[in-house]
Amino acid sequence: MSDYILVLDEGTTSTRAMLFASDGVLIASAQEELTQHYPQSGWVEHDAAEIWDKTLACANEVIPKAGGAAMIAGIGITNQRETVVAWDKETGEPLTRAIVWQDRRTEPFCAELRKAGHEADVQKRTGLLLDPYFSGTKMRWMLDNAPAVRAAADAGTLAFGTVESWLVYKLTSGAQHITDASNASRTLLMELGGAGFDTGLCGLLGVPHEALPQVTDMSGSLAETDAALFGSAVPITGLAGDQQAATIGQACLSPGETKATYGTGAFVLTNQGGTIPHSENRLLGTVLTQIGGKRTYAIEGSVFVAGSLVQWLRDSLGIVEVASETEALARSIPDSGGVTIVPALSGLGAPHWRAEARGVITGLSFASGKAELARAALEAMAHQTHDLAQAFAGDGTAWGTLRIDGGMAANDWMAQDLADMLGMPVERPGFVETTALGAAMLAAAGAGLYPDLKSAAEAMRGTLTTFEPKMTDDVRQERLVRWAKALNAA
Ligand code: ADP
Repeated sequence: MSDYILVLDEGTTSTRAMLFASDGVLIASAQEELTQHYPQSGWVEHDAAEIWDKTLACANEVIPKAGGAAMIAGIGITNQRETVVAWDKETGEPLTRAIVWQDRRTEPFCAELRKAGHEADVQKRTGLLLDPYFSGTKMRWMLDNAPAVRAAADAGTLAFGTVESWLVYKLTSGAQHITDASNASRTLLMELGGAGFDTGLCGLLGVPHEALPQVTDMSGSLAETDAALFGSAVPITGLAGDQQAATIGQACLSPGETKATYGTGAFVLTNQGGTIPHSENRLLGTVLTQIGGKRTYAIEGSVFVAGSLVQWLRDSLGIVEVASETEALARSIPDSGGVTIVPALSGLGAPHWRAEARGVITGLSFASGKAELARAALEAMAHQTHDLAQAFAGDGTAWGTLRIDGGMAANDWMAQDLADMLGMPVERPGFVETTALGAAMLAAAGAGLYPDLKSAAEAMRGTLTTFEPKMTDDVRQERLVRWAKALNAA
């Protein structure tokens, strides 16, 4: 019986293919690193041809473990969001390097749009801010600066897409130019409640509507691979941007359910149900799911520096040799001795949005050593998350529990500290690859292995570890006061 799910997980630094059984158990995986191109300070590019070649290679490595393509019920794709690929519809070849989500080159254009007073309206319509992070201004930059992109636009052969769109195009040998609603909601070109890309928003950003893909559901019969690729045609039945996929992988499918991913940075998403979110606290509104044409939404807040602070302790200060040592150091002392770190090493993200802020360490004394710094670094994760929790609550979305994942979530001390500072249970799944698991859930439901996404999530989600809050109010208050003072200094 064909009941395996193949997930293609296109991260920023690597591409992976993962084979799941229908109960969510990982059977096999293959991974290849992606080359990062940094042509100038603040610019980050990928080679879309390399993304495709390595995806194909990884897929071909794991498909035999299922017993061949015919044994695969559906493919789920999840991807680094906001990264833009431009290709030619006639040749199927990229026209220029992909501009990666982290790239800041379109800041002058964003500043121009902000200055012209467009931000409030754009935020109301798209849920996003006028920031280089999002895809639309990257498309415009390509049109203005890559002659091949402009020429293809003039000739009517230009195709734009985010990474899942590019992969579907290649997997179907050019038969399908589609994007899923979650990726589309990160472009600045679609209204949160709009069915497709908005001609007015396209006009504002100067992106030709005809170059954009068709916006589709995230689960269902979305496309089918060219039979020549894997030996038989395989349905593509799940598509989602990585943070949406992780939210689904954590089974946050009812309003109020929240996940936080602690990797390089931290991404928090809360399910909003069918109501279009409007943040008063500079949080983002985004599409969480679209199935059968029906959408659910999420509020999103991101913190720029999470695990990268631990990397900094390791690589720049040499306080630890490996990231996990921070846990034993934090446990070795009763408190941080008043040391507080505000990790604004690259500015502050949500809810503060202060690009010019820089990191500070306060409360140093002669008693402060490695352990105090390591502990303060981990404490900063709970402090930053607490600030987000306040902002979410301010938008009417208080969290009941927090479901965590990402590389840093392996740190038990940090997980307990989160529970203590937030004053709520923190849950961590045994299988922490929630992004891939979410794509597998979408694909499994889309292939008809389960009646709907909720049943897929229930059946495929593994066991959980729960951290219950234990801290006294006095200690929590002392921490909050200490953090507020340090934040002011930053
Ligand atoms: P990304 O997906 O952004 O590359 P990962 O989810 O792989 O990140 O997480 C890696 C990050 O988590 C690194 O920045 C690392 O410093 C941090 N990290 C990993 N394990 C631990 C740990 N046990 N304690 C604290 N930080 C950790």
